[in-house]
Amino acid sequence: MAITEFKATPLDTIPSIASTARSTFRTHKTKTLAWRKTQLRRLYWAIEDFKPRLLAALRADLHRSDYESLLTEIEWLKKDCLFMLEHIDEYAKDEKLKSPDVPVAFAAMKFRIRKEPLGTVLIIGPYNFPVQLLISPLIGAIAAGCTAVLKPSELTPSVAMVIKELVEARLEKGAFAVVNGGVAETSALMEIKWDKIFFTGSSAVGTIIAKKAAETLTPVTLELGGRNPAFVTKNADLQLAARRLLWGKTVNCGQVCLSQNYVLIEKGLVDKFVEALKQAYKEMFPEGAKKSPDLARIVNKRHFARIKKMLDETKGRIVIGGEVDESELYIEPTAVVVSSVDDAMMQEESFGPIFAIYPVNTLDEALNVANLVHRTPLALYAFGSKKENERILNEMTSGGATLNDAFFHGSVNTIPFGGVGDSGLGCYHGRWSFDCFSHKRTVAETPRWVEPLLRVRYMPFDVKHMKR
Ligand code: NAD
Repeated sequence: MAITEFKATPLDTIPSIASTARSTFRTHKTKTLAWRKTQLRRLYWAIEDFKPRLLAALRADLHRSDYESLLTEIEWLKKDCLFMLEHIDEYAKDEKLKSPDVPVAFAAMKFRIRKEPLGTVLIIGPYNFPVQLLISPLIGAIAAGCTAVLKPSELTPSVAMVIKELVEARLEKGAFAVVNGGVAETSALMEIKWDKIFFTGSSAVGTIIAKKAAETLTPVTLELGGRNPAFVTKNADLQLAARRLLWGKTVNCGQVCLSQNYVLIEKGLVDKFVEALKQAYKEMFPEGAKKSPDLARIVNKRHFARIKKMLDETKGRIVIGGEVDESELYIEPTAVVVSSVDDAMMQEESFGPIFAIYPVNTLDEALNVANLVHRTPLALYAFGSKKENERILNEMTSGGATLNDAFFHGSVNTIPFGGVGDSGLGCYHGRWSFDCFSHKRTVAETPRWVEPLLRVRYMPFDVKHMKR
């Protein structure tokens, strides 16, 4: 299938793209539920119709298997559209406020919350799930009644071009647009006043976006990265933990914000755990990972070099994997036993198929190390007894957590997903996507007939009736 050549959006057209989206919002037509539902239905069918081109683009950009792309992007988004269509009436309707929120003294008045679209929003996406992570927030924005401009990652150029065509051909012109490009185009977009910016990407760029947004008090949702720990204790099923954690590093070749960066495991269990990892590796890649048609590749040379550098600089012992091949941008799923938090494997987010195994003496030590490495990661995994898992949840925070598995709290597209501290701000998915792009506007209504009761509030005050 022919891949469209990447073209950045001319910088001088960006302000008018944004102002068109704003003018469309000001017509108020996006506020009717009928209009929003039409856009969601169109989006559903656009994803279905563009499926072959999206799959081809994902293959070209990430060497991803169609199976994985269908599961993590295409079918995910179709389900997202259907779920939102099913629930939009309920999410959009006014919420009546009653006792106990409204004190009895005000029972004669009416209070409600109106769900209003924030307005014209900017959605900036990363490269790793370049369709899902751009379109899933868009579903929330459409449902809430916003207009939007999307900025896909330039690191997945084929996908970026297909998304531009999909959005501009199928969604209402003027209400939705795609700006393609990198830092220059994103910076131009950031010069515009938006009603919200939804950013998914690295914490470093998230900081740039948040600072710029703060200049105009623009609200942001930030979906960022982090160094995610996994805890494995003597009460874990080691085979299961090994298979599930290896899975976490093979999906999209480990280029997943949620996958573990390191595994904290009791010293006496390390050899058995490594054996279990080897076993799981053999089951997943009977011919070796390089020959597997299912394993994606690293997105580009820069990220390949970044991940390889971690392997070159580690002082640890590679216990599985370790093969790299730049000509294919191939990095083998790799585990490295390390002994210091200063090791290159522990110092930055790997965002690739490699992870550290960090032996500890006790759960106390594991918790100390994890809190030292990154106090607020995006995700945390605990493979222990019920009591140990609860202790881990209690003594270390994270955006979300999965017990006895890798990243499952982020795999269900209808439950809230987001970071905490420097791994993110705000959350989305399901009803939370709707809320993310809505303003909850409190409306009070005072009936005429309560006027006699309100006499007490008018001057001159009759202080002798006041209780002291
Ligand atoms: P990135 O931050 O490099 O890029 C994200 C977006 O920002 C891209 O569209 C890019 O064009 C733009 N951008 C890059 N540099 C910029 C700059 N200087 N000024 C303005 N805009 C700029 O992220 P990435 O490499 O595409 O994605 C990987 C990172 O994203 C990882 O840290 C990962 O953990 C994180 N991530 C988080 C989530 C989540 O849901 N929390 C999901 C996926 C990825």
